[in-house]
Amino acid sequence: MEFKDLISHCKEYGFVYPSSEIYDGLSAVYDYGPYGVELKNNIKSYWWKSMVQMHENIVGLDAAIFMHPKTWKASGHVDAFNDPLIDNKDSKKRYRADQLIEGYIEKIEQKIEKDVEKARSRFGESFDRDHFVHTNERIIERQKEIDAIQNRLAQSLKNGDMEGLKAIIDECGIACQESGSRNWTEVRQFNLMFNTQLGNIAGEEGKLYLRPETAQGIFVNFLNVQKSTRQKIPFGIAQIGKAFRNEIVARQFIFRMREFEQMEMQFFVRPGTEMEWYHYWKEHRLKWHHALGTDTRKLRFHDHINLAHYANAAVDIEFEFPFGFRELEGIHSRTDFDLSEHQKLSGKKMQYFDPELNESYTPYVVETSIGCDRMFLATVSNALREETVPDADGNESQRVVMTLPPALAPVKVAILPLLKNKEELTKAAGEIFNNLKSSMMCQYDEKDAIGRRYRRQDAIGTPYCITIDFETLENHTVTIRNRDTLLQERVKISDIKSNLADKVSIDRLFD
Ligand code: ATP
Repeated sequence: MEFKDLISHCKEYGFVYPSSEIYDGLSAVYDYGPYGVELKNNIKSYWWKSMVQMHENIVGLDAAIFMHPKTWKASGHVDAFNDPLIDNKDSKKRYRADQLIEGYIEKIEQKIEKDVEKARSRFGESFDRDHFVHTNERIIERQKEIDAIQNRLAQSLKNGDMEGLKAIIDECGIACQESGSRNWTEVRQFNLMFNTQLGNIAGEEGKLYLRPETAQGIFVNFLNVQKSTRQKIPFGIAQIGKAFRNEIVARQFIFRMREFEQMEMQFFVRPGTEMEWYHYWKEHRLKWHHALGTDTRKLRFHDHINLAHYANAAVDIEFEFPFGFRELEGIHSRTDFDLSEHQKLSGKKMQYFDPELNESYTPYVVETSIGCDRMFLATVSNALREETVPDADGNESQRVVMTLPPALAPVKVAILPLLKNKEELTKAAGEIFNNLKSSMMCQYDEKDAIGRRYRRQDAIGTPYCITIDFETLENHTVTIRNRDTLLQERVKISDIKSNLADKVSIDRLFD
């Protein structure tokens, strides 16, 4: 299924709408519809349960979006949370200079892949990819070009060298996708923080920022939480909340938004033990993704070569979105940078007294940070497909289905009386609905033929459909249809809850 079809499916079925659509929308801002909010809440519950409930040394926090402006000075965001911006003078289209260059590199990579595929079909079974890419001259040349550009890109970004970025764009002859021209402005730094004004205080004094990450709320509360919960290091603080970034280019639906949600956990450790914990969280977080049944080939680690000034190790968990492998989650070893900077600027001690070592120190931090909306997009793109299945008469028919893990599905079970104008059936269905609704999200639907109702449930990923038919009236049984196998099982009404509760529970993901 193409990406544009996924976007229209999300809108048509009440998952995601463009924000303020009657005014033609607001760029890179989206609203979650009735099924979207359920799916998003389930993703958040799965994360919260796995991080907070299942770790006795991790506790939660819900910090405010507004923070004292000095927070962002200390964290480095005021001075350095910039992206390099460039405009094409002919199309007036705006780009991130680093992304233009990465796009150019991707094109070379695609050329390499083409050569590899050609060779694979020529050599057949005996084809050795590794050997081929290391010996084929054309590929070696292309790889050299990639390495050289990547090096220059990393150096320029690290040194804030905007002219260096411009030089790469010029030398590679990168053109605007829209106008095809190479008529570019200079590259300049663009700060990604939104700001607003506090009450009646004018000027710089009253300048407030919308937080660009949730992490700083955790850092400034580190000692409050440690003291009130009497946690001993190592321990973590987890938070789910909104973050805001004035992204220069945001064209990939909910992948890159200007208002989004993050699920972040900061793990405070003894200095010197951070690499151990970094590896622990790397593996633990990958397992969290795998437990959803995601094809392992769609997830990969991508180590950062070009480390941020505060990090001594960093890796992304990348997911293969419809537009290629992109960052879904980041795991960063942030050293004691944030706590130390807050200590300097606030003049307040941000240290922990370690009773076992009998000394105080500024803890090191390992962070896991995942975008809730990106996880939503990954989940939907993983689940949504069009397929051919046998219909009730044994003929082939097309269906659009979301094979969501039942624990994440917005609606767990649909309750469908076979006919809507037979009161005995609708009454029995109503009773089943009332009996189940406190345990799981149910939906009652009596409109249209049963086949069409199944299709509607398939399209929103409902794992189970209960049908109440004439046999129900005779022997108090119903059929439960499985979304994926299409098999129908007869179950006693009194057994429905016990039959389904476990199958749709988040606990199943921890098996
Ligand atoms: P990118 O390189 O894609 O801009 P980033 O490295 O700036 O991402 P982080 O600062 O590490 O991202 O943020 C942690 C997580 O927050 C990311 O892995 C991503 O899932 C999510 N995230 C960041 N920016 C956005 C955004 N604009 N829209 C949606 N999610 C985002």
